[in-house]
Amino acid sequence: MKLLIARLNHETNTFSPVPTPLQAFNPSYGHDAYLANKGMRTPMAAFIDAAEALNATLVTPVSAMANPSGPVHAAAYDALTQRIIDALPGCDAILLDLHGAMVAEHMADGEGSLLARVRAAAPGIPIGVALDLHGNLTEQMVANADVMVGFKTYPHIDMYETGAHAARLLLAMATGGPRYRVIWRQLPLMSHTLRSTTLSGAMVKAVNQARAAEDQGVAAVTVFGGFSLSDIPQPFVSVVATVQDSGAAHARAKDQVDQIASWIWNHRRDFFYQSAALEASLQQAQLLASTATRPILLLDHGDNCMSGGTCDTMDVLQTALKQGLTGMAMGPLCDPEAVAQLIAAGEGASVELGVGNKVAMPQIGRPAAPLRLTGQVRAISDGSYTVTGPIYTGQTFGMGRTVLLDAGAVQIVITEQTHEPWDLGVFHCVGLDPTQFRYLLLKSRMYCRPVFVPLSDGLVECDSPGVTTSDYSRFAFHHVQRPAFPLDAI
Ligand SMILES: [Zn+2]
Repeated sequence: MKLLIARLNHETNTFSPVPTPLQAFNPSYGHDAYLANKGMRTPMAAFIDAAEALNATLVTPVSAMANPSGPVHAAAYDALTQRIIDALPGCDAILLDLHGAMVAEHMADGEGSLLARVRAAAPGIPIGVALDLHGNLTEQMVANADVMVGFKTYPHIDMYETGAHAARLLLAMATGGPRYRVIWRQLPLMSHTLRSTTLSGAMVKAVNQARAAEDQGVAAVTVFGGFSLSDIPQPFVSVVATVQDSGAAHARAKDQVDQIASWIWNHRRDFFYQSAALEASLQQAQLLASTATRPILLLDHGDNCMSGGTCDTMDVLQTALKQGLTGMAMGPLCDPEAVAQLIAAGEGASVELGVGNKVAMPQIGRPAAPLRLTGQVRAISDGSYTVTGPIYTGQTFGMGRTVLLDAGAVQIVITEQTHEPWDLGVFHCVGLDPTQFRYLLLKSRMYCRPVFVPLSDGLVECDSPGVTTSDYSRFAFHHVQRPAFPLDAI
């Protein structure tokens, strides 16, 4: 058996000014695509393991993943998808590791369009797909796959297991086992990313119903939270099942999907996040700090680079300084221009410069307006560190050249690249011990939590006016099908 396995991942925030050219995907091709995944925890790694267990011949045309950012450049989308299309001839089965919320400059339904082309180029060949929990499903996606399985966790810790699940079903079908098809229900519900966590709340209850349906015999059931920072027709919650293509099994599964979807709709307000004013959030942080012995976390989820944020806004810091907070450590803050200036000034130098707020955000009507700060260069680093866990343990990450600026009330880790604070290494690499601060200002929603929550005495979610804010009123949605909750009172 000859098996096509490929990975193409992007979560597109159509409001983000961060560009997504081909090089943002760091693509690898052919055997390099295989090597980029083999032994990792990606869905594609699970596809590879399952295919090798069958002694199948593998064709791995591409592995490409870019961090969340603005629409994928048309040339990048065309080049990466064409690699997959060109590799199809002669394949007996197809396994694709996709995100589900990819939008290209010229293609609103990035995955649906790809799957339709794959189906047209390889008619009758089984197609299996693994997706992110934040996928925005479309009819075109569902109609052009035989097996579709999404993550059941956020933070995403079941990527490999999801790939293994999709591979098991697809390879059974491709080797003469049951025929599968995909059914779905979509709800006009734009859930907030902060409410799609499976650590607590309504999402975990919905996902548990999906697991129960699988226990009762449905081949796969996924609750997709969707990714609402996308001005497309349906950035919505979906329930998707892979079912045996027989009358009775299909009817039973359809009932179960309908029941889960109805439950979600009846609890739609629990998928909605009410933002508080920054001033109120920081007052709450001061109150928490007054009795704390360990840091209070200030999570700036309005500027989260793993959802398309610029990682350079200063609103939370400015408000914190205005309200008199001291003893803060902040980072990473992406400002390559400031990094160059501070390195030129040298360690120990006293400086005055503009920091942050340098990327204009025309999609939300926000011009660039750097914050003037004075301080001292405390440390200069190459910005690389090895993760101590628990997510991505042992992997080495680079943030580009990195500088620690001491601005008195706050110590800021300034980097050349955007980077989510998912490990203590982002502070350790410039010699900072984050446990020694009263406040830690982190531009993160979820990924900092497994590491930073255990060493803190409290957490305050701070919603700043960046392109990943939870305040939908800051976005002009032109293409979303209406009515939709919570944009409309339905
Ligand atoms: Zn996701």
